[in-house]
Amino acid sequence: MPETKSIVDIRATIVETRRISTSVSIITLDCPAIAATAKPGNFVNIKVSDASLPLLRRPFSIHNVRGSLLDIMVKSIGHGTSLLCDSPTGSTVLVLGPLGTSFDISNKEFDTAVLVSGGIGTAPMLFLEKTLAAKGKKVINLIGGQSKEDLIAPGLSNCRYATDDGSEGFRGNVVELLGATLPALQKEGTLKVFACGPNPMLKAVARFARANQVACDVSLESVMGCGIGICYGCSVEVKSPSGGLRTILLCQEGPVIDAGLLVV
Ligand SMILES: Cc1cc2nc3c(=O)[nH]c(=O)nc-3n(C[C@H](O)[C@H](O)[C@H](O)COP(=O)(O)OP(=O)(O)OC[C@H]3O[C@@H](n4cnc5c(N)ncnc54)[C@H](O)[C@@H]3O)c2cc1C
Repeated sequence: MPETKSIVDIRATIVETRRISTSVSIITLDCPAIAATAKPGNFVNIKVSDASLPLLRRPFSIHNVRGSLLDIMVKSIGHGTSLLCDSPTGSTVLVLGPLGTSFDISNKEFDTAVLVSGGIGTAPMLFLEKTLAAKGKKVINLIGGQSKEDLIAPGLSNCRYATDDGSEGFRGNVVELLGATLPALQKEGTLKVFACGPNPMLKAVARFARANQVACDVSLESVMGCGIGICYGCSVEVKSPSGGLRTILLCQEGPVIDAGLLVV
């Protein structure tokens, strides 16, 4: 079920924009009301410009919370993300949040969290890692990309890398790295996997978790409009606990879901 939380729509000042690669920036927003209640896995929906276009807001995972400040990690792929990355310090944007479900870290049945991410899917992992570490959990990051230049891991610790071309770390994809390191990881105690990245990667992680009976949450991506369950733009078919399939709105019952619900 959707989580109950205080969702606010506030005009937030861009405090800093830090470019960390040719296409990725970390944007810091002064957002006390959202920072106070955000949980790892939640996202915000941002009106990137006061102009009429782009009309729809753009969703971004909460990358980090530092007091009243909220960091988002944005990959510039189109009009909205380019506008946001190029917005000057001191300018303001409308920020709606915190939205969506969060990673389930309430479960005491795991000792070690394995954070599996690909590409811009590392965005929610810093906030998740910090929250898990504060709970005394051991955290290991497995991070994948096509090549060395695609690996993004700002602030993350205990990282192991997988690249398709073998230019850094394990040669292969991040799910293959998860498979290769599973026996060693299992020596760290009971595991739970938390994954974010392209949907095909998440399906592979979900298949892996199912085959190896490892608990797993995945944070899905979809094109999204309103972020509050009105436009139905983000509907996704998942398994129903009672059998068969059902449609959920990712902005309401996602983006984070139990991997067991994913149709793989
Ligand atoms: C819950 C959620 C959390 C997200 N978190 C982050 C994040 O932390 N950092 C980040 O950089 N991005 C994140 N995204 C993706 C981000 O919202 C899109 O990249 C952004 O909306 C694209 O806007 P644009 O105007 O730049 O692109 P557009 O000009 O609208 O489109 C450019 C191209 O990107 C494609 N595209 C548009 N939206 C998406 C999408 N959601 N997924 C894949 N392709 C898309 C379009 O089909 C088109 O080919 C998230 C998406 C969701 C649903």
